[in-house]
Amino acid sequence: MKNLSIYVHIPFCAHKCIYCDFYSITKTADKEKYLESLLREIEFFAEKYSNGRKVISVFFGGGTPSLMETEYILKIISAIKSRFRLEPDAEITIEANPGTLEKEKIQGFLSAGINRLSLGVQSFDDGELEFLTRIHDSKTAEHAVNEAFGYGFKNINIDLIFNLPAQTKSKWKNTLQKAVSLPVSHISAYSLILEKGTTLYKMVTDKKTKISGQEFDADLYETAINFLAENGFDQYEVSNFAKPGSECIHNKSYWNHTEYIGLGTSAHSFADKKRWWNYSSLKSYIEAVKKTGNAVSGFENLTEEQLLQEYVMLSLRSVGINIEELKNKYSGEWFPRNRKILSEYEKGGFISFGSGIIKLTPQGYAVCDEILTRLE
Ligand code: SF4
Repeated sequence: MKNLSIYVHIPFCAHKCIYCDFYSITKTADKEKYLESLLREIEFFAEKYSNGRKVISVFFGGGTPSLMETEYILKIISAIKSRFRLEPDAEITIEANPGTLEKEKIQGFLSAGINRLSLGVQSFDDGELEFLTRIHDSKTAEHAVNEAFGYGFKNINIDLIFNLPAQTKSKWKNTLQKAVSLPVSHISAYSLILEKGTTLYKMVTDKKTKISGQEFDADLYETAINFLAENGFDQYEVSNFAKPGSECIHNKSYWNHTEYIGLGTSAHSFADKKRWWNYSSLKSYIEAVKKTGNAVSGFENLTEEQLLQEYVMLSLRSVGINIEELKNKYSGEWFPRNRKILSEYEKGGFISFGSGIIKLTPQGYAVCDEILTRLE
């Protein structure tokens, strides 16, 4: 039986943050229609992809999924349970904004079967949070983590962003220090990406604010890698760090080519060597599902070569390339073809070759993109 992961996109947000280029909607009047569409999509894809597959993870991402009523989330999980084979120990994650997480929500999510919480904290510095126009301050974020843990969430992730305008190394260290002092088992740390079309992009191009260059960014990244390692968080992907046994199963599905079905606006799916994606706009999505039961707006069939290159890229960025698995799944020629380049990076201390797995070292993660461009 094959493993399958399910992603459920919830596009609603209380407010648009200045750095965000995700498709998100602040008007929440269509929440009920959206729920109906998701339930129809579950029916549609279950017909095709429930046989011979077991669901090992479900991930509610956004947007701000915690804005959805808990009974809606419960209905979605129940529909997945009744139409797919959801494993009893499946990881079920919901992303939440600390500013929308009241006690009732936490309890509701737990009783709906959610066992992993991912909080968009971004920073524990109030000035930085205000600059990012987040709807919460650092105290609220801290309180949300403690409450969620206290009510029973034992698997909590927090997202953090570094290289924010005016961020100093000591401010970043303070945020990291606060993060590890809380009962969290997973931390995702991302460098701020300046996306065209965002308010922040305009502020930077109008010279109203400034983002530090690559060198400082790399310094902050290295600070995070070292600090988190010292505090018991192992790096298992470029941006992801976990206490032993708390690596995100859903993330790992993406990285090891497990099949996944994406539901909701702009969601992507991958199954039967094919990738497809849904309409981004809420209106188009709802209309399409109403007509056909799905909202697929485009697809591509992946060739063996594309699958191989994607497998190499995703594995190297995360758990490492298992040479035997690569040989069995895709090609026995890739390793001999790249042996010379890999040996160079091994000598330089950027990758290791332990037990048949080619893995990045902490220095290697910092130059991952460069290594990938050299591999053939
Ligand atoms: S809460 Fe998240 S998804 Fe919503 S606008 Fe802010 S960054 Fe974007």
